[in-house]
Amino acid sequence: MQKQYIWHPNTQMKEWSNFRIIKSGNGMWLIDSNGNKLLDGVASMWCNVWGHSKKELINTIIKQSKDLQHSSLFNLTHEPAEKLAKKLAQISPHMYKVFYSDNGSTSIEVALKIALQYWQNVGKSKNKFISLENGYHGDTFGSMSVGYMDEFFSKFKTNLFSVIQIPVPIKSKLPTKYTFDEYQKHCLNMLESKLANDKKIAAMIMESGAQIAGGVNIYPDKFQQKISKLCRKYEVLLIVDEVATGFGRLGSLVEYQSQKSKPDIVCYGKMLTGGYMTLAATLTTKKIYDSFNEKFYNMKHFFHGHTFTGNPIATSVAYKNLELYGKYNLIKKIENKSKLLKKRYDEITSLDMVKDVRTKGLVMGIELQIDRTKKSLNKIIFEEAANNNIYLRTLGNVVMLVPPLAISKNELTFLIDKTIKTIQNVSKNLKHNHNKF
Ligand SMILES: *Cc1c(COP(=O)(O)O)cnc(C)c1O
Repeated sequence: MQKQYIWHPNTQMKEWSNFRIIKSGNGMWLIDSNGNKLLDGVASMWCNVWGHSKKELINTIIKQSKDLQHSSLFNLTHEPAEKLAKKLAQISPHMYKVFYSDNGSTSIEVALKIALQYWQNVGKSKNKFISLENGYHGDTFGSMSVGYMDEFFSKFKTNLFSVIQIPVPIKSKLPTKYTFDEYQKHCLNMLESKLANDKKIAAMIMESGAQIAGGVNIYPDKFQQKISKLCRKYEVLLIVDEVATGFGRLGSLVEYQSQKSKPDIVCYGKMLTGGYMTLAATLTTKKIYDSFNEKFYNMKHFFHGHTFTGNPIATSVAYKNLELYGKYNLIKKIENKSKLLKKRYDEITSLDMVKDVRTKGLVMGIELQIDRTKKSLNKIIFEEAANNNIYLRTLGNVVMLVPPLAISKNELTFLIDKTIKTIQNVSKNLKHNHNKF
């Protein structure tokens, strides 16, 4: 075995002596160096839309990279970034300006900084953030602070800034003295009392539609809309994080629109480029933007910018990606595939070891009941899944199904069948051979 130099993300390296080498991708399939095929069940960390090697996207990258590979948005502009910004503003209700960054976490940092500076621009001293428990917003310090989850970030807790957190209704984690409806009301009441009593709150931040990294926790009907109304009532900005849920994951192009909520700032990432290049965007309303729009010596311009902001190759492929949504009527087609997941719900729920199943659009979280094993559950599931020709990555004890949105019904059926088989085999092995893992 040759020495490997990569330190892999969120990975106990001691557990992995080697990694499967992916050589190429074709449609929904990843192909490794031995020619084995794996169905990409997590859309390459939730960002792939059309599958791999989609001709139109490749051609866009080739064409753009011949003309202009990178040029700055500092003092200059270029057509791919302009075209995409216009399109993003057009598809996003109430949004007016687009600020580019490179990944979901930075799009959150940008949103937090815009919110803080906005209140200074308009001469009010509001500098606190409020967020939902169990929410995830990225791995940088600002995003860890607002998306604080103990199991991911406890090592850094002492260095995070403090954020007010409001409980969130989760059916499988309901405190015993409440019904689900009562608990939802309780969460909203808590939020309202915080907003009403603390005039220092600058912004509320939440994932749009569902908490995905928190184990696919789908908000109850109108929950987001009610939060949106409360924020308006108490003059607190609402930031919605659509990094995971925007562009169709939950079945709608713009999730905050289908939630009938009215954010002041919205963040896009993951599926923005179809999963081909790294790019994120933070959009704001005219009201927010106008507060920055002043004479230079007033020092109200936004103090933020990244080297690769609005990269031409990334923005051109994102524009093409969004064009393809229209061309192939992608959002409409998600609904039918979503039904396929729902149809298998009972079957999956009744599996040994399965505690709870949650699904909407093209995401499913299968929560397992499992005692601690010597190996991480992620590795156990990954290996068994790979034996069954699918690529899965679990989050905590939740098996995540997050396929590329353009997956065919046959391939989705294959993914579900093999996921069931994976869970059955793991469950059998854990029972019969405690030492094996
Ligand atoms: C993945 C994710 C992020 C962070 O995006 P990165 O590109 O990994 O930095 C932020 N918010 C949500 C909801 C996410 O799922």
